[in-house]
Amino acid sequence: MENLVIDLALIKEKARSDQASFQEFKQSVKKISIMQFDALAHPIVNEITQAIDCTQCGNCCRSQEPGVTMDEVEKLARLKELPVENFKDQYIAWDREGISFLCVKPCTFLSGNICSVYHSRPASCADFPGLHRPRLKWRMKQVEENYSICPIVFNVVEKLKTLLPSFSAPFL
Ligand code: SF4
Ligand code: SF4
Repeated sequence: MENLVIDLALIKEKARSDQASFQEFKQSVKKISIMQFDALAHPIVNEITQAIDCTQCGNCCRSQEPGVTMDEVEKLARLKELPVENFKDQYIAWDREGISFLCVKPCTFLSGNICSVYHSRPASCADFPGLHRPRLKWRMKQVEENYSICPIVFNVVEKLKTLLPSFSAPFL
């Protein structure tokens, strides 16, 4: 695939300096239906996800706080060779809705750019950045949050900008 941007500093700077472009993109997305947007976006998501090597990146594991279930906390505590309560004290926090998440950044399981517990990683890590799920149009807030940190999200959005009929400022 041509013209993919994987330079994290460039992606961050582009997202910071051209926020108007993302707002224009969101306005364009609003003009098409949920089903049309999924039909347009998902083949691109698939293609770009396959073309980007996450083992060369790891940026989500440095900048995100993934949600974890209590079963996952127990599993991760075992892998860390810590009693569950000690693991919670060091690595888990709760949001206002009572949802628990890994709160240390970078993630304690990140080794270089690679997850050291890959086969036991939480479901929310495996799901990230979640562009493949249906009704993507409903999750534009999440897309916007991840646009500046995840090369997959960045490149999918930039490709979509070239395809949405009313969008006129593609970066790629
Ligand atoms: S558990 Fe693994 S995949 Fe999840 S944030 Fe930590 S290093 Fe990344
Ligand atoms: S999901 Fe995105 S941020 Fe995470 S490693 Fe892959 S390209 Fe990087």
